[in-house]
Amino acid sequence: MNYELIIVRFGEITIKGRNRNRFETMLLDQIKVALKSLPSLEYVRSYARVYIHLNGASYEKAADRLKDIYGIASFSPVIRSEHGLEQIREHSLQLIRRLDNAPETFKVSVHRGWKQYPHDSIEMNHLVGAHILRNTPGLKVDVRQPEVELKIDIQHEAAYVYCENVKGAGGFPLGMNGKGMLLLSGGIDSPVAGWMAMKQGLRIEAVHFHSYPFTSEQAKEKVITLARRLAYYGGKFRLHLVPFTEVQTAIAQSGNDSLIITLMRRAMLKITERLAEQNGALAIVTGDSLGQVASQTLGSMNAIGRAASLPLLRPLVMTDKMDIIGLAKRIGTYETSILPFEDCCTLFVPKSPATNPSVKQVEKIEAELGEPYSRLIEEAIAGTEIMDLRESAEDEERKSEAKTAPEDDWF
Ligand code: ATP
Ligand code: MG
Repeated sequence: MNYELIIVRFGEITIKGRNRNRFETMLLDQIKVALKSLPSLEYVRSYARVYIHLNGASYEKAADRLKDIYGIASFSPVIRSEHGLEQIREHSLQLIRRLDNAPETFKVSVHRGWKQYPHDSIEMNHLVGAHILRNTPGLKVDVRQPEVELKIDIQHEAAYVYCENVKGAGGFPLGMNGKGMLLLSGGIDSPVAGWMAMKQGLRIEAVHFHSYPFTSEQAKEKVITLARRLAYYGGKFRLHLVPFTEVQTAIAQSGNDSLIITLMRRAMLKITERLAEQNGALAIVTGDSLGQVASQTLGSMNAIGRAASLPLLRPLVMTDKMDIIGLAKRIGTYETSILPFEDCCTLFVPKSPATNPSVKQVEKIEAELGEPYSRLIEEAIAGTEIMDLRESAEDEERKSEAKTAPEDDWF
């Protein structure tokens, strides 16, 4: 039994009114690009949904990619049946039998788009329902709250039968809500924060601060691997690699041990804000989670956050570490994140970092560091290396060789 088409439903609750058309157009474009390795597919757009005709392509392949596309609420694999009552009954029965979790209750809902069909929809509900009941011991009908609703859409050319509903990633189509810069460390949290921001429709460019040669080549590779994983969800993914050694050294030598992390984070924000300006981003996204470490207390967030004037988005701010780890595993970043390579911040960890740093004091230290310090920040910005990453290194090579079509911008 082969699936003929897929019904993809858009987030109906997410978006209402004038933005709907934009939402649907963007999402359909992104679906097409994401599924372009299956050239036989044809797309028919309808209100709040799209029908994808497989034309022989594998449903499993398409579904595997669809489940990770933001903006999709759910989708269903549909089989095509000849019109004959016996064929429709048989296909319906097979569909119910194929379900992973055998249901206890079901109902049949027939929609007759082709009005000449000899049985009307109420008759068909009974004719098909009775056949399933007879052949499935233990199954009952429940018209109010069935575990499974078997839908049959009878059209002129064929009948379409389906009952599975696969949950989509939800959220907004990528980029629908603008662009942000993600502070991407090699840790567990920031890739998850990036994934959440993208899910909410934010296009992301990542910024990573490294202290090469104090931090290793492997630490850099780790971040590149994480960024490639995010590129699976977010399409072409730009990574800015900022040389941070000089700035960090200047901070460490300023003799304010307990404020090193605060000062470092502020420098990161200042640099990121400039990169945001250069790249048309209107927000900074971090992996901060309230109370997790000294630099993420409310006092620290205040003293650090004041260094930037763009909105600071912290998708994980109220999320428990165990839940963050669960998400990291689900999106496929966890295994990379736990590789034990030194991050630039772990090089300079003070014995007792301030948990409630004084904004005044921090600003005073920066003023004292003065012009030479500002120059180091400028140099870090100027020395930033840009990498355009794709899901895999092979993809990157292929894309840079061939001049890409505009739609390829996404995936
Ligand atoms: P993560 O697991 O994301 O590293 P963390 O719990 O280790 O988070 P911190 O090291 O305090 O937390 O960092 C807080 C946030 O600051 C990170 O989530 C990230 O957004 C940003 N950050 C930290 N280090 C770097 C870095 N080297 N480059 C870019 N951003 C960084
Ligand atoms: Mg970290």
